[in-house]
Amino acid sequence: MKKTVLTGIRPTGNLHIGHYFGASRSWVEVQDHYDCYFEIADVQALTDNFDNPEKVKKNVYELTIDLLSIGIDPNKATIFLQSAIPEIAELTVYYSNLVTMARLYRNPTVKTEIAQKKRLFGNEGESVTYGFVGYPVSQAADITAFGGEIIPVGEDQLPLIEQCREIVRKFNSIYGEVLIEPQALLGKYPRIKGLDGNDKMGKSLGNAIYLCDSPAIIHDKVMSAITDPNKIRKDDPANPDICMVYYYHKLFSGDEVDTVCAECKNGTRGCVACKKQLIDNICKYLEPIREKREYYLNHMDEVQKILEEGSKKAREKAQMTLKNVKKAMKIDFFNE
Ligand code: ATP
Ligand code: MG
Repeated sequence: MKKTVLTGIRPTGNLHIGHYFGASRSWVEVQDHYDCYFEIADVQALTDNFDNPEKVKKNVYELTIDLLSIGIDPNKATIFLQSAIPEIAELTVYYSNLVTMARLYRNPTVKTEIAQKKRLFGNEGESVTYGFVGYPVSQAADITAFGGEIIPVGEDQLPLIEQCREIVRKFNSIYGEVLIEPQALLGKYPRIKGLDGNDKMGKSLGNAIYLCDSPAIIHDKVMSAITDPNKIRKDDPANPDICMVYYYHKLFSGDEVDTVCAECKNGTRGCVACKKQLIDNICKYLEPIREKREYYLNHMDEVQKILEEGSKKAREKAQMTLKNVKKAMKIDFFNE
């Protein structure tokens, strides 16, 4: 039997190169070897976007198209919508007894995200909701509902997977061995930095290059990327290790990287030419993805069907898990 892969993405914006190199490129690879479930986590996106349902709805379709454009094949993998699986919400309620508030507040990813909200939105960022602090519990329900064993993610997700493992162990120790403990799978680039030099490129951080960005937008974004501040003149030697342009050259420029590095260090390369080379390479790399995206934008009925059928298939699996969970918890009164 093939092992089950489960992972998700929040419909808060399009796929960016951080997702691609950090996680979703590996989703394309694993679909040939495992039973794969890819969740569009709209319920989780609402935890901090509850006042902007239009944004979440729009991005459900945008992200489904992005996933198809990078090569997720609906004949091999199941793409589904979190809100179409009410069993996840029910499991979340049961699991919420198995984790303390203190533990949720200690979760390093939740802590970082709360701090970011405070930085971005000032005082308003302090009014963190019960739903947001509790999203790791709902994520544990996402994973276990489908018997997720392997979870390909970026590094920021590790504390959330750990939290899920704790919930699974607690559940199994009280109610019996029902749930599977998942394992995170990290890729070659577990955390891609943002254009602003931030430790993480993120949809909510405004520092991303999106896979659907036009060449003109990519041009403007790369031109504004941070370079070594000590390089004043074109022929000053510089330190590529503190330059975001070199950082992205490493992702997109293949064999050219060694020359980029050497010329940057010895001062024979100006930043403008270096940026232009990167822009060309990014545009070339993303072109086939943008073409596929165009196709799906013109075939929205296909996209809708993929999402609907995927959700139907995923729901059957979640229903079985819920049945087992309720039986173990002795709340299976009516043999539904
Ligand atoms: P948001 O700001 O709404 O949380 P996000 O950019 O963090 O958006 P998610 O939907 O939370 O995106 O994450 C989807 C997947 O992409 C996760 O596996 C996450 O670990 C991975 N990921 C997100 N950003 C990066 C990054 N900068 N580097 C590597 N992986 C990333
Ligand atoms: Mg995130």
